[in-house]
Amino acid sequence: MKHYFGSNTIVDITSHQKSISTLIQKTVDNHQIEEDAFFIGDLGDIIKKQKLWQECLPRVEPFYAVKCNDHYAVLKLLADMGLSFDCASKAEIQKVLKLGVDPSRIVYANPCKQTSFIKYAAKNDVSLMTFDNEDELVKIKAVYPGARLVLRILPPSNFKVQCDLGIKFGCFPGKAYHLLEAARKLGLNVVGVSFHVGSGCQEAEAYDAAIQQARDVFDMGLSMGFDMDLLDIGGGFPGHECEGVSFEEIAEVVNVALDKYFPGDDVRFIAEPGRFYVASAFTISTNIIAKRIVARDQRGKNAEPVDFPTADEEPAMMYYVNDGVYGSFNCLLYDHAAVVPSLLKNYDDDMLYTSSIWGPTCDGLDCIMPECKLPELRSGDWIYFRDMGAYTLASASTFNGMPAPNQYFVCQMDLWEEVYPNSEMDEKPVEKMIPVMKSGRYPFETMKFNQNVLPEGISVGDY
Ligand code: PLP
Repeated sequence: MKHYFGSNTIVDITSHQKSISTLIQKTVDNHQIEEDAFFIGDLGDIIKKQKLWQECLPRVEPFYAVKCNDHYAVLKLLADMGLSFDCASKAEIQKVLKLGVDPSRIVYANPCKQTSFIKYAAKNDVSLMTFDNEDELVKIKAVYPGARLVLRILPPSNFKVQCDLGIKFGCFPGKAYHLLEAARKLGLNVVGVSFHVGSGCQEAEAYDAAIQQARDVFDMGLSMGFDMDLLDIGGGFPGHECEGVSFEEIAEVVNVALDKYFPGDDVRFIAEPGRFYVASAFTISTNIIAKRIVARDQRGKNAEPVDFPTADEEPAMMYYVNDGVYGSFNCLLYDHAAVVPSLLKNYDDDMLYTSSIWGPTCDGLDCIMPECKLPELRSGDWIYFRDMGAYTLASASTFNGMPAPNQYFVCQMDLWEEVYPNSEMDEKPVEKMIPVMKSGRYPFETMKFNQNVLPEGISVGDY
């Protein structure tokens, strides 16, 4: 069954949970994909995350951080489930408003904003926004004096995180008085305190320490006469099973800390989770477009390929796949992520070779895995990587003219119906693949859609 979700997006609704390798093979077969890399986005996984959030942190309203993965299907589903949104720019605010989300469901959570973007927020009643410096207050006073301001403080930095955001944002709690005083002098309205412990937090206690510190600044604001009623505990929650800490463990610490430092207060608690909602929902399948066999000690060097290594020269395999660090795997550089390759085919030969996996561009930096052990693979084989939903396509480029992968969406029927009980389904909607010139990031894109519900401005007869 298929459902047309709007904006050229079709969701394949499956009767039961299918393994990721089955989904990949089905997608390859149904869409006759010869070799192009593609994503599978499991919307059911995002629905499960929302259920988990509601179960573990019922008092904390999630404002999904759009920057993490801004695909229409993700934002639409989250909006339909009632989530609010953390936006970092005018374009993100526009995207969210376009979905029909009320401006009161947006926090403009970038402490250093371009003035024209603040004006845009003012024009569209997006009044809740963060700040961490005096210059920002002066800009806001000039163009949006009625904004509701949230002071972002720097949480304690002695905890392990994947990406430290404190090097760039957050006012030292010791400087908070000075900033609040500046806001008071300007007649601005400070309503709360926020922090971000760092993306991919690996120690739950980081939240306890930050909430305690936020309480002190909160009290400072109250004592200065501000009508403080909001605590924003930021992001940092893990999005897939990994070493370190689980979401449930963090939620437990957060709940205890909220009871301890904000007991019985009439304070609204919000958060800005990004990776939590999307990381595990996306898997990318890449195709081996080229392969070189080199001597083991010559990997990654300007070495002569050895098609037939001698007996004492153990071969190493270099595989080139069609997405890399300039595309979806930019998470290896920017997000300090680690990825794990899986193989679509079963390989009878259980001999493992020292291997490396490279992206498709001509840059030597474009390496996905400098070393791993794999059976001998061939050009045309598929290698897939799970947990690729956070900070991947959203920050990818098309360097060297490499196209962005297509995205195919699936959802298990029972989960889908929890969100969309009366959704319209087609047994077999007619799908057309239409090449469309786009002026945006990707110069040439293939659009898939249900022929019965054509995207605005497009008719099949035109092609
Ligand atoms: N809020 C802000 C201000 C951020 O900068 C980020 C990530 O960079 C997030 C929320 C989302 O963080 P995470 O994906 O770790 O939940």
